Amino acid sequence: MSETPDLDLVRDALSTSTLSHALKLIGDRWTMQILMAAFLGVKRFDDFQTRLAIPRRTLSDRLKAMVQMDMLRPRLYQERPERYGYHLTAKGMALYEATLMTWDWEHRFGENRIELPARLVHKTCGHAFLPQLACESCGESVTMRDLTMTLRPNPRLPHDTGGAMRTPKVTVSDGAMSHLALRMDRWTLMIVSAAVLGCRHFDQIAHVLRISPPLLSRRLAAMVDAGLLSVAPDREDRRRRVYLLTPSSRALFPYIVLVSTWASEHHFHEPSSIRPRHKACGKPFLPRATCGHCHERLRAWDVRFDTGEAA
Ligand SMILES: [Zn+2]
Ligand SMILES: [Zn+2]
Repeated sequence: MSETPDLDLVRDALSTSTLSHALKLIGDRWTMQILMAAFLGVKRFDDFQTRLAIPRRTLSDRLKAMVQMDMLRPRLYQERPERYGYHLTAKGMALYEATLMTWDWEHRFGENRIELPARLVHKTCGHAFLPQLACESCGESVTMRDLTMTLRPNPRLPHDTGGAMRTPKVTVSDGAMSHLALRMDRWTLMIVSAAVLGCRHFDQIAHVLRISPPLLSRRLAAMVDAGLLSVAPDREDRRRRVYLLTPSSRALFPYIVLVSTWASEHHFHEPSSIRPRHKACGKPFLPRATCGHCHERLRAWDVRFDTGEAA
């Protein structure tokens, strides 16, 4: 992106992006944690409840929503009383790569490492590995710096007017418990996306995300506290400040691009308004998660979660 982004274009692209819409559907902390547990083999209501310490009512609501979105399929396993197990569908399974990226991010930057499987083992090559983001076309591993973004607002995707989004409150006491949740919530990921698209000033971010200034102030302060943004005086105008991505927020990019692509391919069946291209091979960028050891694409049944003692 150039130094000064076209703010109206960025706003329209973000608000009609599949990312923005997908995060409304699955971007809350519980849905992400339910998915992670499902990929670890959890199926029964009580097992989700015990594992995640999630309020029963919330769990019931989230499972229902995930069934409606065809990410989980209920299957009766006991008749009296009626009990259902929740099985991942093909659409739910397609979030596997994105979910692996949340595991990776949490391992590197998060605070609840202890609750996660200690490591991932790729059964195909037999090695412990870290997942990598790679280009489907050329197979090379990719970071956000290897991509250019073209913005083409898709008129078939509705505009997100900003008002209706579910906004978890951020408080200091939340910090300790909501870990992955707080950092990967919808607002955080949208602010990171705005920064990826070149927005660095407070008023730019407020404009493209239509966030009220008081709310944005709180969000930015929380993100600076959590190490997701750094803040510095603007070199051209010392009275202004710029917000910059950090290693931990840059590392959210694989998750962002995989969720966005999942929503395009499996939910909306529409191209996103934000279209990345891989500079090196020149092809439209289709993200894949690959094994950092053998570079093969990762598939759910080829990965073992090792729960052995963390080093
Ligand atoms: Zn490529
Ligand atoms: Zn491998």
